[in-house]
Amino acid sequence: MKQVIHNAMTVDVEDYFQVQAFAHRIDRRSWHAFAPRVETNTDRVLDQFAAAGVSATFFTLGWIAERHPGIVRRIVAAGHELASHGYDHTRAFTQEPDSFRRDVGRTRKLLEDIGGVAVKGYRAATFSIGTQNQWAFDVLEEEGYTYSSSVNPIRHDLYGMPGAPRVPFQPSRGTLWEIPMTTVRAAGRNWPCSGGGFFRLLPYGVYKSGLTLVNRLERRPGIFYFHPWEIDAAQPRIEGCGRKSQFRHYTNLGRMTGKLDRLLRDFAWDRMDRVFANLLTSGARANRAPERAAAPQPA
Ligand SMILES: [Zn+2]
Repeated sequence: MKQVIHNAMTVDVEDYFQVQAFAHRIDRRSWHAFAPRVETNTDRVLDQFAAAGVSATFFTLGWIAERHPGIVRRIVAAGHELASHGYDHTRAFTQEPDSFRRDVGRTRKLLEDIGGVAVKGYRAATFSIGTQNQWAFDVLEEEGYTYSSSVNPIRHDLYGMPGAPRVPFQPSRGTLWEIPMTTVRAAGRNWPCSGGGFFRLLPYGVYKSGLTLVNRLERRPGIFYFHPWEIDAAQPRIEGCGRKSQFRHYTNLGRMTGKLDRLLRDFAWDRMDRVFANLLTSGARANRAPERAAAPQPA
């Protein structure tokens, strides 16, 4: 019998006013003034997953957990994996090791206190771990994380580490795994195949073909991610953030729920910690990142 590959379904739990594309317009200190929609939207996501019988991993901001502890508890109660998206969406490559340590340590403790479960996974805001801040992996491990899903091995104007391995690797001196976002290799480069804006903007069939390729040809699981605000067509519009950001944020919001339904039906899904359980529980070392050894030395 052919073995079904389970892919990892993941949600980055943040509100519509916290996305990086709006960061130059909206100061963190004004976040409290926006009408929150994350709780209602995440409840809708939980309902959709329950109807489809899918378990997922919810990378949650500490800022959200503090203000909406109920949603953290409902994520856990529904059998999903609770994981960390950092405290307030500060990109890791803008932080010093000390402030990054406080950020990821504080958020893990906050989530564990509210959720009553161990938090093992971390995803950096806007995939902000790259060649320049590989020390972040050591800090994550020291702060109790088992895996990170923070590298996107593509070229993108806001993020990306195109030279990173496409498959899980152990970048630090310890046992922490980086499980990079899914890409399809074609025409000499890596193409994004992990959801986000690409999934919402492009026809469903494009994504379906990509993930099918990864599952069938490479016999590997993929990772999909989206945000609760992506299913919320009625969210307040943020003005003056530029046409590209407007387009990326607001296009096809109304179609997202239907697209997700097809995705949940067409593939098998599970939590990160279960999809990659063979890596995370083995304690084995393999696929050490070549970038680490080749990091530029001071002249
Ligand atoms: Zn995020």
